[in-house]
Amino acid sequence: MSKYFHSVELEADLCCGCTNCLKRCPTEAIRVHGGKAKILSERCIDCGECIRICPHHAKKAHSSTLEEIKRFKYKVAIPAPALFGQFNNLDNIDFVLTGLKHIGFDKVFEVSRGAELVSEATRRLIKEDKLNKPIISSACPAVVRLIKIRFPELCKNVMPLKAPMEVAAKMARREAMEESGLPAEDIGVFFMTPCPAKVTEVHSPNYAEKSAVDGTIAISKIYPELTRVMDRLTDVEQIAHSGLMGIGWATSGGEAAAMLGDKYLAADGIENVIRVLEELEDDHIRDVEFIELNACSGGCVGGVLTVENPYVAQARIHKLRKYMPVSLNHLKEHQLDMMMWENELEYDADIFRLDEDIVKAMSMMSEMEEILAGLPGLDCGSCGAPTCRAMAEDMVRGKAKESDCIHRLKAKIQSVYDQLKNTI
Ligand code: SF4
Ligand code: SF4
Repeated sequence: MSKYFHSVELEADLCCGCTNCLKRCPTEAIRVHGGKAKILSERCIDCGECIRICPHHAKKAHSSTLEEIKRFKYKVAIPAPALFGQFNNLDNIDFVLTGLKHIGFDKVFEVSRGAELVSEATRRLIKEDKLNKPIISSACPAVVRLIKIRFPELCKNVMPLKAPMEVAAKMARREAMEESGLPAEDIGVFFMTPCPAKVTEVHSPNYAEKSAVDGTIAISKIYPELTRVMDRLTDVEQIAHSGLMGIGWATSGGEAAAMLGDKYLAADGIENVIRVLEELEDDHIRDVEFIELNACSGGCVGGVLTVENPYVAQARIHKLRKYMPVSLNHLKEHQLDMMMWENELEYDADIFRLDEDIVKAMSMMSEMEEILAGLPGLDCGSCGAPTCRAMAEDMVRGKAKESDCIHRLKAKIQSVYDQLKNTI
């Protein structure tokens, strides 16, 4: 498997090089050359911002199809809590869970069950005072990847617990093996995902060699089929086994509220997340024990693979929670080990390094500063790089040339014209 698997891809035929996505990308992972966008794979965190902004639908997210579940003898659906915010007038999540069984799954296991265990494990770790505070939630894989490539000092603050999706997948597989008598490889566990970052997380996990999830299906892909069967449901099975604490993870602030304390902070939307991380890096955030960060506005309900307006979905989740018990899943002693990360989170230093040879890298850096001083400093993006600094970096790496800068080119043409005029 390649080091950098990505769910987010460009459909080059649809791209007209308008540069809208260039400015939105939080990691400067996009360039536009020859009238087409290009994603610099090693910098992309699969946040989905470029999918959201592209007016020509040229960016898309790869995920599995319902057909793919047929590879397995026993199929398990693990829906993200955000799925429940997609339906109007839903007062019982069993309608959705039963609907999933009607579209081809043998078993359904809510990710919110895993979320309740992660919340309890987090509370325990905070109480034991063994982690670097403030602790940053590890639930949003786009945020974890962002920290890994842009905030090296904060890697040590990321909570070393697996996300609810992974915890739920492990538990669901174990239960499915007991119920079906089948070996693990005959059981396919599929996550209903609200965002591309979770698709990427399943293919290339941040904290383990292999994910416990076999495939991810976009909520937007199953929504039409699911609503069709839900409309016709006569018998609703009693499947749900989570409380308001687990369901609350669907929206921003839900995970932090489950800490049951008051020393927490929750931010959503990639720009707000970056602001919090910058302030944290500068030691400006004090007296906070836990930080929940979601790359999407509104939390997971704001993912680009959902169908409903995030704020409408958020209101529905709040309404649903009113009739639920607090929590139905409690941590057993042996579960904590399987929830801990298998790998440490390490800063991906190679991405922005100019050269492996430190002397050469320093000389490239000073060349870059010189080039930058000669650029107009407008950060207009018309050269195909998001900022003049990024353009200078591309030039020093041999990936762009001075004439790509339209303002420099104009100045050059003007000077040639003036010279010719004077000569004549
Ligand atoms: S927003 Fe980006 S991907 Fe979409 S058409 Fe414009 S340049 Fe191409
Ligand atoms: S998914 Fe996010 S990080 Fe990746 S190219 Fe698009 S905007 Fe940039």
